[in-house]
Amino acid sequence: HPGFDVHAVRRDFPILSERIHGKQLIWLDNAATTHKPRQVIERIKYFYEHENSNIHRAAHVLAARATDAYEHAREVVRRFINAPDVNEVIFVRGTTEAINLVAKSWGGKHVGEGDEIIVSHLEHHANIVPWQQLAEARGAKLRVIPVDDEGQILLGEYRKLINDRTKIVAIGHVSNTLGTVVPVKEVVQIARQHGIVTLVDGAQSIAHTPVDVQDIGADFFVFSGHKIFAPTGIGVLWGRRSVLEDMPPWQGGGNMIADVTFEKTVFQPLPNTFEAGTGNIADAVGLGAALEYVERLGIENISRYEHALVDYGMQQLGQIPGLRLIGTVPGKASVLSFTLEGYTTDEVGKALNAEGIAVRTGHHCAQPILRRFGVETTVRPSLAFYNTFEEIDDLVRVVRRLAGQRR
Ligand code: PMP
Repeated sequence: HPGFDVHAVRRDFPILSERIHGKQLIWLDNAATTHKPRQVIERIKYFYEHENSNIHRAAHVLAARATDAYEHAREVVRRFINAPDVNEVIFVRGTTEAINLVAKSWGGKHVGEGDEIIVSHLEHHANIVPWQQLAEARGAKLRVIPVDDEGQILLGEYRKLINDRTKIVAIGHVSNTLGTVVPVKEVVQIARQHGIVTLVDGAQSIAHTPVDVQDIGADFFVFSGHKIFAPTGIGVLWGRRSVLEDMPPWQGGGNMIADVTFEKTVFQPLPNTFEAGTGNIADAVGLGAALEYVERLGIENISRYEHALVDYGMQQLGQIPGLRLIGTVPGKASVLSFTLEGYTTDEVGKALNAEGIAVRTGHHCAQPILRRFGVETTVRPSLAFYNTFEEIDDLVRVVRRLAGQRR
């Protein structure tokens, strides 16, 4: 593929040489989690061998090194998503924790009886359940933007859902189940015209499409490190400074305080306000290394290559008799979702696994959108930039063989 040397980048990922049932691993489960390049693995090893400490800069040499490494990672995140201010970048455990933080802290302050929260039919459970819990606790209502038969949200219906009780719109950037790229900039613009706060769930967009939080214009943008070649247990909540500063801390403890007496605690300014206790320092450093790795490849190059791969996969799978593609919006990112007549999705997954091909089968933590299409589960191959056209051919060959043997 012009401009992208996939075989060179594959050498950066040791696990891609793994053999499964005697066959070369084909990893098509990137929407669940991504693999880690040597650069990330080595950066974390270096941290533990040369920099490990808690982050209290002034105490000693290692404390200064650990603090510098951690704060460098925060700056890399800022640059990667083009946030205006490094102190708006809060390290959390992942997307799930980020959304829960916003629902508890911002939601706890601003959502009351009779208020409304808008999500879309495409959401991952992580962007449904915290809002549902908030709505239940407050007597508020969850409203859902419907999708069309291809799997895109209906902007006209969205406009109709907005009213003067709408407090927040929380929307996924890319569907983890269908791969739909949602026009989040437009969704945010419409909300902002009504003074409504917005959150974008970037768990599935961060590794596949350029992200510029100032261009998107939302108040919050959240993602997980492990979906972008970094470790699990580290993620990001970006929030607009004015909005974050108006939120109470959600957890209390060390690191987030300026002064404590039994009568009253004075909190640290951003970002520490929202980073109570010892964080996941080494993995934050690993996240910084992962984002620097992606920067070197260029997210535009990655995105272009992956779109060609997804289009090829859709076209090849689409020719298999009895195969139903679910989610057919043009320009999808990463995710192919399908069912195969005569087989459970489990059976398809097992047949692929026997050939060393890893895909997810199941409900993908997004049951409402699958039920919208009348299914409970799908087979979900999901791509990253280290996948090849030959790997898609292997996937298609196995599925085609199954289709040919249909009972
Ligand atoms: N939102 C979306 C769109 C996702 O794909 C995922 C992960 N599958 C999440 C949220 C939750 O991410 P995590 O489990 O890393 O917190």
